[in-house]
Amino acid sequence: KDSHNAPRVNLGPRTVRDALYTFVRPVPVNKSELLGVSPRAMQDIGLKPGEEETQDFRDLVAGNKIFWTQENGGIYPWAQCYGGWQFGSWAGQLGDGRAISLFECTNPKTKVRYEMQLKGAGKTPYSRFADGKAVLRSSIREFVVSEALNALRIPTTRALSLTLTNDMVARETMEPGAIVARFAQSWLRIGTFDILRARGDRQLVRQVANYIAEDVFSGWESLPSALPKNKTEAHIDPPRGVSKDSIEGPKGAEENRYTRLYREIVRRNAETVAAWQAYGFMNGVLNTDNTSIFGLSLDFGPFAFMDNFDPAYTPNHDDHMLRYSYRNQPSVIWWNLVRLGESFGELIGAGDQVDTEVFINDGVSDDFAPILIERAETIITRTGEEFKALFMTEYKRLMTSRLGLKTQKDSDFKGLFSNLLDTLEKLELDFNHFFRRLSSVKVSEIETEDQRKQKARIFFHKEGVSGLGETNDSAAQRVSTWLASWRQRVVEDWGEQPDADNGREAAMKLVNPKFVPRGWVLDEVINRVQNQDDREILGRIMKMALEPFAEEWGWNRAEEERFCGDVPREGRGMMCSCSS
Ligand code: AMP
Ligand code: MG
Ligand code: MG
Repeated sequence: KDSHNAPRVNLGPRTVRDALYTFVRPVPVNKSELLGVSPRAMQDIGLKPGEEETQDFRDLVAGNKIFWTQENGGIYPWAQCYGGWQFGSWAGQLGDGRAISLFECTNPKTKVRYEMQLKGAGKTPYSRFADGKAVLRSSIREFVVSEALNALRIPTTRALSLTLTNDMVARETMEPGAIVARFAQSWLRIGTFDILRARGDRQLVRQVANYIAEDVFSGWESLPSALPKNKTEAHIDPPRGVSKDSIEGPKGAEENRYTRLYREIVRRNAETVAAWQAYGFMNGVLNTDNTSIFGLSLDFGPFAFMDNFDPAYTPNHDDHMLRYSYRNQPSVIWWNLVRLGESFGELIGAGDQVDTEVFINDGVSDDFAPILIERAETIITRTGEEFKALFMTEYKRLMTSRLGLKTQKDSDFKGLFSNLLDTLEKLELDFNHFFRRLSSVKVSEIETEDQRKQKARIFFHKEGVSGLGETNDSAAQRVSTWLASWRQRVVEDWGEQPDADNGREAAMKLVNPKFVPRGWVLDEVINRVQNQDDREILGRIMKMALEPFAEEWGWNRAEEERFCGDVPREGRGMMCSCSS
């Protein structure tokens, strides 16, 4: 449902009723410079290398051209309406305040469909008090991190291009403006349903749920099969990671297709947040309007990759309660998914009555309502167990491979993993460097205590360990103890013959990145692009982001090593404010 019909005029910020989007066109820019594209993104939407040189491409990604004309009646750009729970409170109507979707396109080879969108292309009805623009600084961050996450195999929205506009944009100071052309399989978020629930628009909740199942996902049949209703009914396949016995069936509730849709959205988000945890990525603002229906990493504001391992770390300068800290991410994603369950409440609670005439047209009778709420609550709670199980399965799978193990033992999680995390935290060691450096350690090099203590030092910062109260020697002792237990597991899985190390090292380097775009690296890139007119650095960082597992990237070995090396002391655990 759009909020008004063509010909379209922009009426300015307002409360939109009955609709989930508004047609609105980007504000043309009279001068712009294409600063970079992601070659991988070009390929994924089906463009050939070099096509970014065309005037059409440059006009499209700068917001100067749309596909609609009076004559052709082609697709007209639009901005989405959504609501959101921000930091735990209901924030009312939000929406694409500075993002405008241009069109949908399908890659002819992969058949994947994407929605192309510009960020920073001007005001929409959802801009509230802001200007609809984006600054170069935050646009560089989004451009790089979108592609870095994708290269790490973490589901995410993507970035095609970065365009510098000739606007100066007012933030704390005047800053250059920019536009990121970005795309995703879907830009719908939990907030999409939040706003419908707040409006009480039960018909549109159903309609959008149908749209998601049929057009965004691959049809109702593709959704997860039913959960076992009770412990004896073991013929139904449990979802991945869930043991048949661990789940109690819903009491008297028939699981209908909307429950399966809900569970699919839950599954995707469980796996994505597991990957964030395994790679030390923090979104920084996990409000429901930033939580994707498709399970994508979405909205890159004050995000960060973990430097020194610190579970209480949040990159968001304004998050005093640490709501969106590293350790809270899984539970906060679940909190958001419960909001979605509530929006779906009527549909999932209705069980097999969901398609009856009476239910669709008249809604819930007073007699039926309490039963329905109870059923929905049961289903949501049960899906919460599934979320936990799916999260743990995916997290363990990723950590197992990051540690170079082929098998999982029950003792790994409580022993090997948690001892490692405790050690990293206590000694303030760098999370991602640890795994990459561990990849090259040979089992023959860590047989004796002396050898292990020697080896331990490759994980320390140049100036030594920074953990409070630890001397280098006691730190080395601690790492040595862990290395001994790791060695034992590696030998169990790979054997002890000398060439086993090579296979393991190669496998580990395919999952442990040498490069992640950390705060200090992005800051340097921003500074060089913005203040030193250095255009090359952007392409180089993009190449590193696109090939995070490589050993070298072929431009300047010393520079590459610096970006992959020790985090400068003042650059560790940086924080960001949200003014982007
Ligand atoms: P975020 O914190 O990025 O999730 O943004 C929250 C809401 O504010 C979203 O609805 C955005 O579209 C909107 N917003 C943020 N920055 C701007 C801006 N510069 N102009 C217009 N709307 C904005
Ligand atoms: Mg947002
Ligand atoms: Mg944002």
